[in-house]
Amino acid sequence: MKAAAFDYVKPATIEQVFALLQEHGDEARVMAGGQTLLATLNMRLSEPSVLIDITGLDALRGIAVQGQHLRIGALATHTEIESSPLVARHAPLLAQAAPHIAHRAIRNSGTWGGSIAHADPAAEWPACLLALGGTVVVRGPAGERRIAADDFFLGLYTTALRAGEVLIAGEIPLARPDHWCGFSELARRRGDYAIVGLAACARRAGTALQDVRIVMMGVGPTPMRARQTEALLDGRTPDAATIEQALACLRREIDPLPDLTHTPQTKRHLAGVLLGRLFAAAQS
Ligand SMILES: Cc1cc2nc3c(=O)[nH]c(=O)nc-3n(C[C@H](O)[C@H](O)[C@H](O)COP(=O)(O)OP(=O)(O)OC[C@H]3O[C@@H](n4cnc5c(N)ncnc54)[C@H](O)[C@@H]3O)c2cc1C
Repeated sequence: MKAAAFDYVKPATIEQVFALLQEHGDEARVMAGGQTLLATLNMRLSEPSVLIDITGLDALRGIAVQGQHLRIGALATHTEIESSPLVARHAPLLAQAAPHIAHRAIRNSGTWGGSIAHADPAAEWPACLLALGGTVVVRGPAGERRIAADDFFLGLYTTALRAGEVLIAGEIPLARPDHWCGFSELARRRGDYAIVGLAACARRAGTALQDVRIVMMGVGPTPMRARQTEALLDGRTPDAATIEQALACLRREIDPLPDLTHTPQTKRHLAGVLLGRLFAAAQS
């Protein structure tokens, strides 16, 4: 199928973007890398009359340390994040997760902001941002808002972004020397969306882990924190007995949605396998 006809605009300033969004309302869509949006247009899942290409907004580019945060501009591509020395140093979870996103051609065009705004529950960036306790920065005609990742993902492909707003950046607290993180996912083929995935962070305190955050991908309508399992692991050394308890806790805690080829039982089992692998590796 081909997309329905649409107009295409490439504004040079964010004020022009706001004016276009105000003028066209529901008929307009913001386009960044186009790697998700164009597929939905071609399948006629969405038929906007105007595409507003934001890739001319240089202010939305770049990856930089600002104070105690790593700020990643909405237009940073998956490849730029994957190859950034700042990301490797200050947010290594993202560097671990990046190679799991699609294929090189898609990573070269797809963006950080597009992925977070789209909020696919099986996507890597939303899960990592949540695991890292990050913040989403959005801007609209009324000004800027900062939304904790914990409050941003509201439902299936639904976020706290309001009509007329644009996601401009995501911010992540800089990793401290005691930072630990791990990422793992299972996909049918390399580059496919995850069947189940897991992003985790904590602080090392001797052999123990503290402030544990575990986010599951592909099990619910949003990336989901496994709060009971986090609480069980918090302050403990992830030895074999603790990991067994954590596996049992996670499998009780999550209630995965099925997909076309995997039952909830299969996903629950796979989630436990991933958790076991990640936290066993945390001991080394
Ligand atoms: C074959 C294939 C495999 C893929 N596999 C994966 C995968 O394994 N993991 C994964 O995470 N992704 C995967 N993707 C999706 C890819 O990562 C996309 O790049 C990403 O989801 C969207 O980024 P984009 O810049 O292309 O956004 P676009 O496609 O341009 O936009 C996506 C949505 O976000 C909105 N949007 C974009 N930018 C902004 C902004 N700054 N502010 C407000 N709204 C905005 C758009 O209006 C649209 O609704 C895959 C895509 C393809 C085609």
